[in-house]
Amino acid sequence: MKRISSKTDALTRRDFLAASTFSVASAAALFATEHAEEGKASRPWYETMRRCGQINVNERDPLTFDVDVWMNYWASLKIDAILLNGGGILAFYPTEVPYHHRSQFLGSRDLFGEMVAGAKRRGFRVVARMDCNLAYEEAFRAHPEWFQRNRDGSVRTHDESPWLYRTCMFSAYFTEQMPAIYREINRCYPVDGFFTNGWPSTWVLDVCHCENCQKVYRDKVGGIPPDQTDASNPLYRKYYDVYMDRVLEVWRLWNTVAKEKNPDSVYVGNLGGGIRTVKSVKTLSETASWFNADHQGRSGDTPIWSCAQQGRVAQSVMQGRTITNVTGAYSNSRITWRHVSKSPAETTLWMAQTTASGMVPWFHWLGGSPEDNRWREVGRSFYEWLASNEPHFCNRRSIADLAVLYPQSTIAFYQHAGNNTENRVDATEYLQGLYYSSPHSRLRATTNGATRAGISASRTFSARKLPARSSDRWATATCASRALMR
Ligand SMILES: [Zn+2]
Repeated sequence: MKRISSKTDALTRRDFLAASTFSVASAAALFATEHAEEGKASRPWYETMRRCGQINVNERDPLTFDVDVWMNYWASLKIDAILLNGGGILAFYPTEVPYHHRSQFLGSRDLFGEMVAGAKRRGFRVVARMDCNLAYEEAFRAHPEWFQRNRDGSVRTHDESPWLYRTCMFSAYFTEQMPAIYREINRCYPVDGFFTNGWPSTWVLDVCHCENCQKVYRDKVGGIPPDQTDASNPLYRKYYDVYMDRVLEVWRLWNTVAKEKNPDSVYVGNLGGGIRTVKSVKTLSETASWFNADHQGRSGDTPIWSCAQQGRVAQSVMQGRTITNVTGAYSNSRITWRHVSKSPAETTLWMAQTTASGMVPWFHWLGGSPEDNRWREVGRSFYEWLASNEPHFCNRRSIADLAVLYPQSTIAFYQHAGNNTENRVDATEYLQGLYYSSPHSRLRATTNGATRAGISASRTFSARKLPARSSDRWATATCASRALMR
C-alpha cells in the first residue's frame, strides 16, 4: 500500500496483487488520477503518449484519399499521435523547395495539409513522416555531389526503383536540403515533430565513394575502409566511429531544426530490425529524445519473443524515456504481402509484446485504398483495450532478477556473410539461447548493454548472463555471476 500512495516509486504487479484489501476499481481510479497528474506536468508531449498510428500513403493516393474516413478510423483507436507523409522522396504538399519532387498525382491538392488539419481537429499530435534516403533524377542532375557512388564512380540507385538515386549522409543533402524541407513544413503546418523512414537504420554501414566521403576518409579515417564489415581492419573500426559521429551530428541538427518553431517539437530517427542493430544504440540514446524500434513483425526464424526483446534492449539505453515500436498491420512474413492483413493473433501478439516491454505501440498500414480491411478491427480492438486499461501501463520499473548482457560491438563487427538477408549469418542467434533458458529456469530476465555503463547498471540484478562470443572486454571482465536464483 505504501507504494500505491507514492508518485515517485513504481508499483510492481506483485505489490499490486498483494494489496488484497484494496479493490481493483479503487486502485485503477487512483492510478488514473496519478496518471492524469503525470500528463499535466511540463513534459514533452511524446513522453506521455500511449498510442500511435500511421497511414503511409503512396504516390497515387492524392487522387482518391478520403481524409475524414481515415482520421475517423484513427480516432476510433483513441490514438495520441499520428505519422503522416510530408515528403523527402515525394512531397505530398505544394512544396517550393527546389528538387523536392511533388507527387505526380498531387494536382492542385495539398494532401499533407488536409491530413494535418483532419488530425488536429481530432486532437492528434502530428509527426511528419519523411524519407531522406532517395531522390529523383532532377536532384541528381543539379547536385550530383548529394549522391552515393560506387568504387568505380558510378552513382548508386535503388534496387527496386532504379529511377531513384541514393543520397549520401556525408553530403549537404542531409545538412542543407532536408533542413530546408523541414523548415518549409514547420512554416506551413502545425506539426509536432519529424520522423525519417529508414535512417539511420540499424543495418551495416554504407561505404560510399563520393567526393564527400573520400574527403572524410582522408581527413578522419586515414584511408579508405573496406566495402564490407571487417572487424580485423582498423580502417573499418575507425570508420564506424566516424560514421556514428556523423549520425549524431545530423540527428542533433534535425532535432534543432524541428524545435525552431516550437521547443516541444522533436526529431526521431528509425531504428528497425530487432536487436540486430549494427549502429550503437547506447550512443544514439545519448542524443535521442525518442527511440523508434521499427520492428514491424516476424518472419522466417525470428523468435516469437523478438519484439519484447528489442523493447528490453531499448529500455536499457533509454532508461524510461520514450520508445515506440511499429507494428505492421500488413503481412510482413516471407514473402512480404504489403497489402494483405497480418493474422489477427500475430498482430495482437506483437502489440502486446510492445506494451509489455514498456514501448508505445505504433500501428501502421500502407496505402490509402486497401482492398483488404481485416486489419482495421484488430488494431481497434487492441487499442480500445489498451486505452481502457491505460492506468495500469504507467509502471515502467523492471522486476527482473537477471540481466542478459547485450554485446553491441559483436553485432557491429561480426563478419556477415553478405547483405542478402536470406543468407547472412545472424550475430545475435546465440543470445536467443540465453534468453530462451531464462523462463525455463523461472528467471525474470531483461537486457543490458555489455558496456562499462551497462555492466554497472546490471549490478542491481541478482545475476548476469554474458554471451561467450562477446568481444566487449568490459563484459568479459565482469562476467562472474552471483546466485542465479533468489
Ligand atoms: Zn558519400
